[in-house]
This record gives sequence, structure tokens and C-alpha cells, in this order.
Amino acid sequence: MNDITTSDPEIAKTITNELQREEQGVELIPSENNVSKAVLQALGSVFTNKYSEGYPHKRYYGGQEYVDIMEDIAIERAKKLFGAEHVNVQPYSGSPANQAVFFALLELKDKFMGLSLTDGGHLTHGSPVNFSGKYFECVSYGVEKETELLDMDSVRKIAHKEKPKMIISGLTAYPRKIDFKTFQEICEETDAYHLADISHISGLVAGGVHQSPVPFADAVTTTTHKSLRGPRGAMIMCKSEDRLHDKYHPNAKLKDGSPKKLSQLIDSAVFPGLQGGPHDHANAAKAVAFGEALQPAFKDYAAQIVKNAKAMADELMSQGIKLVTDGTDNHLILIDLRPNDLTGKGKLVQNALDDALITTNKNTVPFEPASPFNPSGIRLGTPAVTSRGMKESEMKVIAQGMAKVIKDPQNSSITEGVKKDILELTKQFPLYPGMSILS
Ligand SMILES: *Cc1c(COP(=O)(O)O)cnc(C)c1O
Repeated sequence: MNDITTSDPEIAKTITNELQREEQGVELIPSENNVSKAVLQALGSVFTNKYSEGYPHKRYYGGQEYVDIMEDIAIERAKKLFGAEHVNVQPYSGSPANQAVFFALLELKDKFMGLSLTDGGHLTHGSPVNFSGKYFECVSYGVEKETELLDMDSVRKIAHKEKPKMIISGLTAYPRKIDFKTFQEICEETDAYHLADISHISGLVAGGVHQSPVPFADAVTTTTHKSLRGPRGAMIMCKSEDRLHDKYHPNAKLKDGSPKKLSQLIDSAVFPGLQGGPHDHANAAKAVAFGEALQPAFKDYAAQIVKNAKAMADELMSQGIKLVTDGTDNHLILIDLRPNDLTGKGKLVQNALDDALITTNKNTVPFEPASPFNPSGIRLGTPAVTSRGMKESEMKVIAQGMAKVIKDPQNSSITEGVKKDILELTKQFPLYPGMSILS
């Protein structure tokens, strides 16, 4: 039972270097966050040793007395946090969670609607290179050319014309609020299931600063590692009853002849439909993160994420940087590099910002004129820097540094200067004080 520093110095070195990278830089990738020490401890625990196929109190192997208690707590906390009727905490990650919902509700080749990738949707919302676009028929909806905003009337029109069996609401690169309620109305008008994928914004929803789809959507998926600030993983929340049972699943019956519930369709799609044994260590860490999100301080955290994003957006714009939709009302900002003469130069700018210790990701902008490998946008967000305790004034400093780099991305004396400012800033906000390698 050796310590990793002596048993495997090669990998230990990569971990200590990563810790230092995270301490020194500012993390602005909007899908990332910094989890608590308690979450890291649960992740690094002996639950990783256990196999527990099945669900609490209905397992296929022995030795489940503590796993069952842990998974029950995770489920109860998630229910309380989001007001959900039914929760499955076993999905390994966001993509498998969405896959499980597809397999629970649709047949292969069935038609569904999702937000197109270039307009801010996720791969699993119908991209042709993903299972969702390959094995199902996707009709994409997108943002309007003029406003770069979602127009619910045009979503409604497409839904009435195409009659999809499911509509996905949710975003991965859209800086504005989503009107889940109107999505639900459209789904009810057209007899479509509503899958709300709140992976990016579940921390904002839990913190009460974004409308929640949980009270009405048939199924809600979320990753647990983004703004929710838990371990890598996901969960599915859903209604108990299948609103469209008679139309789409008339033959889905239990042994006693009663209709299968929606929650049963989803649970069996996760296990045994798609997955084997749940990742108990990750689920323990999910429980810890849900417990943290139930504390009053998490509401302040979620509100601060949004305030920080606004402060950063305002400062970027006042420095002459163009933002998609000219601002943000969530945690996410999309910079449009085209007016800075950087069309198709997202990668160049991402690398220049990396050199200045500001971590972001290149991204397409709506109606992208260049290629997805060299797109014209930069995506960023504030969940991680907010976890670190940074506030509006720090956002200003970071935004000013970013603007300098964007205006002259190939000038290394500028990136060096910004890097110094960033090092100075991050020193004042230690991430994991005293941590060496193990949690
Ligand atoms: C991140 C994300 C996912 C996928 O999550 P993975 O854990 O990376 O598989 C799915 N949907 C949306 C909207 C996301 O933002």
C-alpha cells in the first residue's frame, strides 16, 4: 500500500503539476469548476472498490449495506435540491445520461429536435457524428440571425410542422436564459416528450438564479461536474408517470398488467440497458456535492456566478470586445472575434490566452463562417473563478488582460505582462491551501 509519490512518481508528477497549473491560472472554461476537498475525498475513497449492479436494496451482489445507505442519501438530497419526483444518480456522465433518455423514450430512427451545435447545443442534441444524430432523426432548431437569440415562435413552428417525438431544451454555449416553460407548452401541444438538459446551468437552477424545468419537463438530465460543483458524472430526474404512455408506449407494462411508469423506463434504460455497475465512489462524491448545494451559501455562490459573468461581459465590451448577443444572463460568455479581424482565429487566441494563464476554449459562433477546428469564437464562464472566491473587481482585472491579448494575440511581451498580473491575482485566492498531492 504505497504512497503514489513513491510507487508511481511519473504519474504523481503529472498530478502535482496539474495542481500547480490550477493554482496559478484562472480557469474560465464554463463547463469546469473546482470541487471541495470533501468531494475529492469521497472520490478517492474505497467505494471505488465496490461493485453494485442494480438499485438500492435490489442489487445483484452482496456487501451492499453501506453503498445502499450512500446511494439513498444521494437520491434524497438530489430530490430535495431540485424538487424532483424521481432521481437516478447512476449515469457515468452527461452523454450516457442523455443516451439513456433516448433509449428509454424513443425507438431507433425516431425524430427529435435539439439546438444545433453551432448555435450552442451539445453533441448529444443531434450532431451527425454522435449517436443522437446517427441513430435518430434530428431536426435542429437554431438562433435567429439578427439577434443571435432563440425565438420560441420559430421553435414552435418547427415542432408543429415536424411532429418530433422528443424535444431537447438546453445549452452548452448559449449565454442567455432558456424559457423551459414555453418548451414544455410546445411539447404538450405536439405530443412530444420534453428532455431538459441543464448540464451547464444546474448550479444556477439549484441556486435559484435560473428557471427550473424540473417541475414540468418529463425528464431532466444534468452533469454533476459543471456549475453544480460535484464530481464528473451525471443524473437524471424525471416524472413518475409517462404522460404519453398510451400514444408511444402502450405495450410497456409491468407483470401485473399496469402501465410502466416513466421512472421505470428511465431506470431500466440506465441499468441494465446501457450501464453495468454504478461508480459508487463518484456517487458518494455526488451526495457530498448535493449536500453542499443544499447549504444557504450555495445560493450566494450561484448569484455571484451570474454577477461575475455580467461584470466580466461589461468590462470586455467596454474594452471593445464583441460578445454574442451583446452580453450574458447566465454563467457563460461567447466572444465573437470577427470584428477584431480574427475570423477563424479562435485557436490562436485560445493559445495566446493559455500563455497568459487564462484558460478558455475556442468555440463556433452562430452562423460560423470558418471551420469548427478553427472557429471564430472564444467561450468562457465564471463557475470556477467564483468558487475561488473572486468577485466583480477581479473579473475586471481578468477581462482587461483578456482584451489586451485579443487585440494583439501574437505579441509575446503583452502575454507575458498579462501572465504576471494573473499570477499576482491568483496568489491572493489559493485553491487548495496546503494540499500536496492527495486529498
Ligand atoms: C457537458 C454537457 C453534456 C455532456 O457531458 P459529458 O459528461 O461531457 O458527457 C451534455 N449536455 C450538455 C448540455 C452539456 O453541456
